[in-house]
Amino acid sequence: MEHLVRDDVFIGAGPCGLPAATELQRAGLSVAVHEARDRVGGRTWADTIDGAMLEIGGQWVSPDQTALLRTLDRLGLETFPRYREGESVYIVPQGRRTRYTGEMFPVGEDTEREMNRLIEILDKLAAEIGASEPWAHPRARELDTISFHHWLRQQSADEEACNNIGLFVAGGMLTKPAHAFSVLQAVLMAASAGSFSNLVDDGFILDKRVVGGMQQVSQRLAGQLGADVVLSSPVRTLRWPGEDGGAGEGVTAVSDNVTVKARYAVMAVPPNLYSRVSYEPPLPRRQHQMHQHQSLGLVIKVHAVYETPFWREEGLSGTCFGAGALVQEDYDNTNHGDSRGTLVGFVSDEKADAVFELAAGERKAAILPSIADYPGGQALTPADYYESDWGSEEWTRGAYAASYDLGGLHRYGKDQLKPVGPIYWASSDLAAEGYQHVDGAIRLGEATAAGIVARAGKNG
Ligand SMILES: Cc1cc2nc3c(=O)[nH]c(=O)nc-3n(C[C@H](O)[C@H](O)[C@H](O)COP(=O)(O)OP(=O)(O)OC[C@H]3O[C@@H](n4cnc5c(N)ncnc54)[C@H](O)[C@@H]3O)c2cc1C
Repeated sequence: MEHLVRDDVFIGAGPCGLPAATELQRAGLSVAVHEARDRVGGRTWADTIDGAMLEIGGQWVSPDQTALLRTLDRLGLETFPRYREGESVYIVPQGRRTRYTGEMFPVGEDTEREMNRLIEILDKLAAEIGASEPWAHPRARELDTISFHHWLRQQSADEEACNNIGLFVAGGMLTKPAHAFSVLQAVLMAASAGSFSNLVDDGFILDKRVVGGMQQVSQRLAGQLGADVVLSSPVRTLRWPGEDGGAGEGVTAVSDNVTVKARYAVMAVPPNLYSRVSYEPPLPRRQHQMHQHQSLGLVIKVHAVYETPFWREEGLSGTCFGAGALVQEDYDNTNHGDSRGTLVGFVSDEKADAVFELAAGERKAAILPSIADYPGGQALTPADYYESDWGSEEWTRGAYAASYDLGGLHRYGKDQLKPVGPIYWASSDLAAEGYQHVDGAIRLGEATAAGIVARAGKNG
C-alpha cells in the first residue's frame, strides 16, 4: 500500500474531478485523483469498435456551454458542427412518417398551437425559477409534488402535444418516464440549458462535437496532472473527523492500493455512487437520506455505421423524432472527416428496460428497424452496430445522469452541495447551469475548487 500526503484528494477522474484538481494545482496546492476505472473520462468515453471511433458517452456541445467551450479552447481541442442540412423526419403516433424542415414537428394545427403554448408556459417557469436554487422558489413544493406527465395533462387535453413536450425532458434528457419526476425537476432541466425553447431546438442543444471525441477533455487534463492521477484505484473508505471534529484534522481516502491523507476530499462521482464508499464515522442522517433520493436514468445510445451517409443524398439531415417509437430520436453522428456515415439513436427508460429483456440478437432486430423507419430500409444493414450499456458499468450504473425522485428536489436540493466536514460533493448531476452535461461538470468542479481555496485560505 502506497501512502501519499496531499493538500486535496479527488474521488473520480471525470469531467468534474479533473478540472477541479487542475484549478487547485494552479493555485499552488498538491492533489491526488483516484479513478476507479483503468481510464479517465467517466461518462465521456470514445472507443474504436470494429474500426469505427464511437462516442459511447457524452459528446455534444451547445453554444451556451461557455465553461466547456473555454476548456476546449485552453486544451487546443477543435469542434465541428453536427450535420443538419436537409429535411428531418417525424413519426406520428399512428406510425406515419413525415419529412419536415424547421424546429416544429409537422403536427396538426391544434397540436402545434398546444405545443407552442406548453413551451411558452415552461419557458416562463424556467425564467422565473432559474437553475441555481429551484427549491427556494415559492412554488417549489407545489411544482415538485406533481409528476411532469400529470402536470402536462392538467395543462392540455392534446395527448400528442403532451407526449412531444414530455419527450424533450423525459426520454430526451432525464431518461426516466415523465411520471417518475416532478415539474420542478423538468423546469430545472430547462433552466439549466437557458430555456425550454433551447431544449426543443436540436440545432442549439446538439450543436457541435469535439474533433476526436469529448473524452479528450479528461485525457488532456489528466495528462497535465501526470502521476497525480491514479487509475484502477477505487476509493473504498473515507476517514474523516466526524461532525464535531471540524475540518482541521483532514480526511484520508483509502483505495485498494493507495492511501491519501489530505485536508479536503472531493467526491466527484454521481450521487448514486456515494454509498459505494464507507465513511468512517458514517455520514450525517441528512446525507444518508438525501442520497437515496437521487438516481440515474437509463438510455441506450445506439450507433449504426454505414459505408456512406446515404440519407444525405436523399435530402435528409438524419435528424428524426417519434415520441411513440422505440428509437425516439435519431441524428447524423458521422465523425469529422469520415467518409462513412453514422446514425446515432436513443432508446430510453421503460423502452430500454423492455429491449434489455431480449437476447442481444433479438434486441438488435428490434432496434434496427426502428432506426430504419426514419431514413429508410438501407439503414437495416449497417457495417457496424453498437449499443451502449451504461447501466451495467459498475462505476456509473445508468445514463445520462442523476435526478431526484418526485418531491426530492425541493426537499433536499438546498443541502446537496453542502460540504460535510472536509468532504465536498461535485458532479454534473449537482450542477445548475449545464446540469447533467459536461459543461455543468466543469462549472461545478471549478466552483468547488474556488470554495476549497477560499476555505483553506481562511483556515491558514
Ligand atoms: C450515453 C451518454 C450520453 C451523454 N451525452 C452528453 C452530451 O452529448 N453532452 C454532454 O455535455 N453530456 C452528455 N452526457 C453527460 C456527461 O457525460 C456527464 O454529465 C459527465 O461525464 C459527468 O462528469 P462527472 O465528472 O460529473 O461524472 P463522471 O463522468 O461519471 O465521472 C465520475 C468518475 O468517478 C469515477 N468513480 C466512481 N466511483 C469511484 C470511486 N469510488 N473511486 C474512484 N473513482 C470513482 C468513475 O469511474 C468516473 O470516471 C452523456 C452521458 C452519457 C452516459
